Amino acid sequence: MTSPVERVSLTHLQIPLKETVRIGGADMGLKDAILLIVESRDGIGLGECSPSAARGCESLESCWKELTERIAPSLLGRSFSSTEEIGKLADTWTGGHCAKAGAETACWDLLGHARHATIAELLGASSDQLDMNIESGLTLGLYPTVVELLKTIENHLEEGYRRVKIEVEPGRDVELVRAVRQHFGDIPLMIDAAAAYSVNDIDIFRELDDYDLLMFEQPMAADDFEGLAALQAAVTTPVCLDETATTVERTAEAIRRGACRIVSLKLQNLGGFGPALAVHDLCYQNGVACWVGTTPELGVGSAQGIHLAALGNCRYATDIEPSPRWFVDDCIVPLIEHSGPGVLSVPTRPGLGYQIDHSKLKRYQVRHTEVVAGASHPF
Ligand SMILES: [Mg+2]
Repeated sequence: MTSPVERVSLTHLQIPLKETVRIGGADMGLKDAILLIVESRDGIGLGECSPSAARGCESLESCWKELTERIAPSLLGRSFSSTEEIGKLADTWTGGHCAKAGAETACWDLLGHARHATIAELLGASSDQLDMNIESGLTLGLYPTVVELLKTIENHLEEGYRRVKIEVEPGRDVELVRAVRQHFGDIPLMIDAAAAYSVNDIDIFRELDDYDLLMFEQPMAADDFEGLAALQAAVTTPVCLDETATTVERTAEAIRRGACRIVSLKLQNLGGFGPALAVHDLCYQNGVACWVGTTPELGVGSAQGIHLAALGNCRYATDIEPSPRWFVDDCIVPLIEHSGPGVLSVPTRPGLGYQIDHSKLKRYQVRHTEVVAGASHPF
């Protein structure tokens, strides 16, 4: 059992990306996230609220408001003896899933410390899985030219990544896939369409079906179950849900309608470890494989994803990449790094297994507030 929560510190961080990238229809040059530190007498828990810059996602402002005004105060005085107890409190939080994920994951870290268990162990990963390396995939946004795309892939492939994912959009799809195949041969390759197509585009996917891709990630709009199912029936390449998979109910509906064969689990989309575990288990029961996607998060969120990726039904490479891949810096110690060519190790220290570098937290801080019993102190 954790000691009662005495203080919740929230820091809005902004860390520049190494280059501006185009992901999900949005240009991203700065990464905004909210780092939560939940403190009790005998430990701290780290959480990250990390909205994606992509279209249709929660804004950082709404997350900040939700976390500082409602969620953080609700944590004060609470202690947890199980992940189910954390889930019960999280179910009372209204608002978006990114804000929930920030607080819920911090509570899991706190509980891990109290129990001397890693988060992967709390999730129920078996000892075999904990020892296994997590395969790390290279993820690329849209580039202005094919040459730049190929050059970027070439620069990173020598780091040992286990698969390559490229973003496509209408008008820039088959050409990109063909170029990557011609240049790199039969590397494990997939595309992310970031919900940019409709049922009228099925012929494009029929053409893409010939390129032996691992999957088509979110080819159509999040709620277009009918279109996704029509596509899955028309192609042999598995359709993978990303934006659609925000709750157990939606994922179950998509599976029932034949709209996917793979699901990307994102802690930020789902609202934390509890819902992610529930979707993972639902997929397992239905013969649907999973893997762990990213927004991409900073180090705390990335480390969380590594624990999640240790679950047995996570059967494809994760989008989690080493800290220096996207960002000029990070505020966790140690940084996320490949432990071997293209693989990540599941942390073995209790809880999340990472610490915060407080000097860096200060360096990249935009604003900070602390919620303690009876008062809120912005400074
Ligand atoms: Mg995606």
